[in-house]
Amino acid sequence: MGNNTPQILLIYTGGTIGMVKDYKSNALKPFDFENIKVKIPELKLLDCKIETTAFSEPIDSSDMSPEYWIKIAEIIKSRYDDIDGFVVLTGTDTMSYTSSALSFILENLSKPVIFTGSQLPIGDLRTDAKENLITAIQVAASRKNDEAIIQEVGLYFEYKLYRANRTTKVSSEQFEAFESPNYPHLAESGVHLNFNDSHLLRPDKKLPLQLQKKLDAKVLVLKLFPGISESVVSHILKYPELEGLILETYGAGNAPTSQWFSNSLLKIIQKGIPVINVTQCISGGVLMGHYETSVHLKNMGVISGKNITTESALAKLKLLLGKKIPFENFKREFELSLRGEMN
Ligand code: ASP
Repeated sequence: MGNNTPQILLIYTGGTIGMVKDYKSNALKPFDFENIKVKIPELKLLDCKIETTAFSEPIDSSDMSPEYWIKIAEIIKSRYDDIDGFVVLTGTDTMSYTSSALSFILENLSKPVIFTGSQLPIGDLRTDAKENLITAIQVAASRKNDEAIIQEVGLYFEYKLYRANRTTKVSSEQFEAFESPNYPHLAESGVHLNFNDSHLLRPDKKLPLQLQKKLDAKVLVLKLFPGISESVVSHILKYPELEGLILETYGAGNAPTSQWFSNSLLKIIQKGIPVINVTQCISGGVLMGHYETSVHLKNMGVISGKNITTESALAKLKLLLGKKIPFENFKREFELSLRGEMN
């Protein structure tokens, strides 16, 4: 390998990908990730130098939290100058939340950070882990004209590279577990690895990487459903420390028109708590004012999440609250795309 060989750091946090089956008991158990090259000898054939690091205690991604997001970001920052691309392995269950959050935490990122995982453990005969891991590393190592092709946070799964903050987990059992319904794939892997150049983020490389670590704002996601009652909504919104609310609405951003519903929302908005309107639909976005059932939301100052995912909205809301954006500017700031997460 020459001097220009890309250096890749593999960060293992936990999840199915790092497990093997104990054929006696049939149970899944984590294996020592330092031995990854023994489990996948093909890694030695890749045209890059791979280092590994792992959480001392790997976690199931159901136990992910903002503290772990920051831990991942700090590992990336600590090796940012000498590593060309990062591959982060997490469980798939909350991978869209984690990778969306990392896209906001890593301000001025200009190197590839590629998340992947698998539906079947690496030690399983029919595993999808090998392809996901090998191609994620290739994506992170891909360069053109002396610079990384990907300069943002991506999620690679089952032959497709997505912009991480556009993804959502859509299947608990198909190998094709993720989708990015409102944004084209960044790359597709077939006989060739084809990048979708016109849809890649191009950050300003003069600015240094910075971590936005204040993510402890108290926020809630409230999903509407037919028959949702006044007592439930008022109980939830009485949460004394509430700093921000994501309202998962119907269709193009529609909600009940009853007076009690409007009053409950108005009460928190008047306290200076931002309310973000995100659609429950898997694709498309919010267009407040398009139907009569969203005019009241628009009039009271509910913020449009446009076509952002709930996973991304949650991280963005926490980020902007952490930055102490004044309430009068919050709507404008939220409705701007920061990392290509909405349009
Ligand atoms: N429960 C696992 C996790 O998310 C599933 C997976 O790894 O895909 O950690």
